[in-house]
Amino acid sequence: MSEKSREIDTTGIILRKVPFKETSLIIEIFSKDYGNISVMAKGARKAKSKSIGQLELLNELELSLYRNPTSEWYIYKSSSLLKAHLFETRFRTGIVMQAAVEILRQIIIAEDEAAAIYELFQKYLKYVKTVNKHEIVIFWRFLLGLFKEVGIEFNLSNCVICSREKDFVGYYPQKHGFLCSKCYRPIHESYILRINSEMRDLFQNLPQIGNYLDELKLSKNDIKKLNHIFLTHLSENLHKTFYLKSLELY
Ligand SMILES: [Zn+2]
Repeated sequence: MSEKSREIDTTGIILRKVPFKETSLIIEIFSKDYGNISVMAKGARKAKSKSIGQLELLNELELSLYRNPTSEWYIYKSSSLLKAHLFETRFRTGIVMQAAVEILRQIIIAEDEAAAIYELFQKYLKYVKTVNKHEIVIFWRFLLGLFKEVGIEFNLSNCVICSREKDFVGYYPQKHGFLCSKCYRPIHESYILRINSEMRDLFQNLPQIGNYLDELKLSKNDIKKLNHIFLTHLSENLHKTFYLKSLELY
């Protein structure tokens, strides 16, 4: 260990783990204090290692790490388990949890945004475990909160052209917002992603959607379209393509 390394403590959730060499692990952690970090856990896969059961996907840990100021890497020292979020989850719940992991791994989270996004993620993991239908909708609500935190908020109250109406007929990718029925012209047809009135209501009720889950009806096709709108909003704003492998199984 270099003399410059210093010990830090943080709380974090494991987003990924990859075996490294004979007995080590590289883990990606979403840390409350530092955002996404890469941690080298030397010898963590040895049978007698104390950490062997703790370093699992979506485990939330209290961590002691070494940080070398001249390197991007953190070195794992020890941890204690706070919560195993994936433990005893239903299949679909696990999928939408992993969809959030995929998103968090693809966006860049600044250190000053980390605590708020961490809290959002933690709430999401806890809440989604309590619902037993339409888990995907809770994922969308998580995205809604995430968009706000990273400064690419969905405007659900006003049309992106007139800034007045909310009778949305579609999402307009180039304008990063929704288009209302009054502003809609046939020329928009090839640019916009159409939504029907049920989808519009879903978007507008999303912040309180937990109260409406029982009444909600969603076809496979609706889910596909809505996912596409969320990912298009991300891609258009952040100028990179977002694709979620986990949701193929939903
Ligand atoms: Zn309008």
